[in-house]
Amino acid sequence: MRKKTELATSDVAYDDEEDMDEILDTREEVKASDLYLDTINRAALDFDFEKVCSVSTSNINTYGCLVCGKYFQGRGRHSYAYAHSIHDDHHVFINLETTKVYVLPDGYPVSDPSLEDISFVLAPSFNRSYAQILSSSSYPTKLSYDLASKAYLPGYVGLNNIKRNDHMNVVIHALLHVAPLRDYLLLSNFHGKESELLKRFAGLAKKVWNPRLFKSQVSPHEFLQEVNRASTGKYRLEQQGDPVEFLGWLLNHLHKDMGGTKKKNSSIIFSTFQGELRVEAQQVIARPDAGENEKPRFDIARDIKTVTSPFLFLAVDLPPPPLFQDSVEKNIIPQVSIQSVLSKYDGKTTQESVGQLRRYKCQRLPPYVISHFKRFTKNIFVEEKNPTIVTFPLRGLDFREYVDATASQPPPVYDLVANITHESVAGTTRDKENTVWKVHLRAGGAEYEKWYTIQDLIVEETRKEMIFLGESVLQIWERRC
Ligand SMILES: [Zn+2]
Repeated sequence: MRKKTELATSDVAYDDEEDMDEILDTREEVKASDLYLDTINRAALDFDFEKVCSVSTSNINTYGCLVCGKYFQGRGRHSYAYAHSIHDDHHVFINLETTKVYVLPDGYPVSDPSLEDISFVLAPSFNRSYAQILSSSSYPTKLSYDLASKAYLPGYVGLNNIKRNDHMNVVIHALLHVAPLRDYLLLSNFHGKESELLKRFAGLAKKVWNPRLFKSQVSPHEFLQEVNRASTGKYRLEQQGDPVEFLGWLLNHLHKDMGGTKKKNSSIIFSTFQGELRVEAQQVIARPDAGENEKPRFDIARDIKTVTSPFLFLAVDLPPPPLFQDSVEKNIIPQVSIQSVLSKYDGKTTQESVGQLRRYKCQRLPPYVISHFKRFTKNIFVEEKNPTIVTFPLRGLDFREYVDATASQPPPVYDLVANITHESVAGTTRDKENTVWKVHLRAGGAEYEKWYTIQDLIVEETRKEMIFLGESVLQIWERRC
């Protein structure tokens, strides 16, 4: 139950303190404020939750109490922050929008260099040279430490699983490790009419890459609340879902919110992830002379329909697992190489469905290729999972065979950046409900490469040879320049 509010919103929506800042003699207050600054409890602060007043739930003109971490609206005489300062004897408040700090109930501003770390946790800002450090092949050169002296690596921090949002956490992490998108978000300074989704995604990026966190973990709550709103309830943190669907939704939504159009390169999303695919299709005509097991082939004498379409993902099918006869064979996990599943895009391999024969080839590959292994198939009864393991190199995957050659360009060689895997819990191999999503993330470049596995709050360094043992569902590949 929400507390009933007796105050009219207009009383607290805007500060009614006719700036007491100037009225009061600041010199006397400086000494008093020193005492108050000692009451600040940094361990209670993270600013991860939606910036709404804990009493009125309004998001207008909210302040964070630096003693207990709660949010209250206003700082004028009739405001909730003012009332909190009197009732709870908490006196230091930060404006969540401007990061200015005030002492209440007196109402004077405090600016003290010792508060700078707090405003940096609330609203971190980065410059281009920090972004360059993150992209350097020797990152990380040093670890960061949180308030509890716990070491962490900025960018590789745990994300809270608030209810059942691990399928969204892995997507957030994967996207925030794509350098052009990461840098766009870290260097952004949104204060205008940008979409709330974009602002909050940038805010989350800045937290995840913040080298001066108070707690070495971040809650995606504020961003996911907006995801819920923007998707009109389709993606909720209470409900397990499909990371592939979520990623598709998020990329398209961010693209539009960035002002992107149908044109290529019209947003950082398109210029980073969008490629072009050529699809050739032909009607299948049953030949009376064809043998029973003969596959239909393209008939060059007949019309072949060619369309070119843009893509954000390269979806590949996994071969159906063999039907095992006995219990010994059931323990064998089928394996395929990534090259054999990507052959779908070589322009020669054909696929037949509903009387159409098709073959595919990329015309243009983006700087970052998202590959999706279709592991789940739905039938009317149940969602089946294909357990086939896909083997892949971490570095140097050559896409030459899957794209039309352009003479001027170097060969399209890609290195893995992120790998999202699915794990079924305790014997259930079928449903996505009982499930654990994990993401493997690369840190550093060729000579100094490390891999981390993140599952919600658990962050672990991982041996390279363990990475392909998971059931990969999504991967992001980075083109070598
Ligand atoms: Zn308080």
